[in-house]
Amino acid sequence: MTLSPFRVDLHLHTVLSPCGELEMGAPEIVAACRKEGISLCAVTDHNATDNAPAVAAAAEGNPVVIPGMEVQSAEDIHMVVLFPDMETARSFQEWLWLEMPPIPNKPEIFGEQLIIDGENQIIGEQETLLVQGTGYGADEIAAEALGRGCLVIPAHMNRPSFSYEAVLGPLPDDFPCSALELSAALPRADFQEWCRRYPGRLFIRSSDAHRLCEISKDRCTLMMLESPSFSELALALKGQQGRSVLCPWEDFPSDRTSSSS
Ligand SMILES: [Zn+2]
Ligand SMILES: [Zn+2]
Repeated sequence: MTLSPFRVDLHLHTVLSPCGELEMGAPEIVAACRKEGISLCAVTDHNATDNAPAVAAAAEGNPVVIPGMEVQSAEDIHMVVLFPDMETARSFQEWLWLEMPPIPNKPEIFGEQLIIDGENQIIGEQETLLVQGTGYGADEIAAEALGRGCLVIPAHMNRPSFSYEAVLGPLPDDFPCSALELSAALPRADFQEWCRRYPGRLFIRSSDAHRLCEISKDRCTLMMLESPSFSELALALKGQQGRSVLCPWEDFPSDRTSSSS
């Protein structure tokens, strides 16, 4: 087994997110990831997974694309949920949408919510507003997702809105999740302060890209993996079998670029 450092970005929006720019098409996201050397990415639109197959189709394995979702809880807390496969993603979305308020999107105000294929052909439009809180609490969403074998990462913990801290205060020690996400713009000194405040918690950095220019090697996290995949990611977040997450604010170890044996 050879472990190598891979760039990982677990928080990307597409044209399905009303706040995502229309340039966030499938081939464009793939090209941006390849340009930045990102080997593993997750498509995490608000409360929906419908465009993950499009990005995966465009990527053809480079980068490897994990289906995900940025869930908005009843308290308006954002949490990234990552799925082992599309089937799990679809069934989780069905569960989530049992408690989705039937508020229609207003594209002229919030933006369009387009469902596309791998070549950016529009194959549908989500008519229910995606940027709203579902009826489930953050604890309930985390427990349900983890119970289905998913990964749960409270999003942009350092942001003054839609983060766990901003809404409910400090994250309890026993809150069930796989890691905590910090925004890429966070200064290194602030990152160290977060580590002091949450000893024992694992932090990652993700782009939360809504525009192509926000997909960057400087906005992702390095992980030591055998290969870029969901199962390897799960091991790294648990620190098992030698897999690990490197300090998000650490430079790419160029002397250890990927090798195989
Ligand atoms: Zn968010
Ligand atoms: Zn986001």
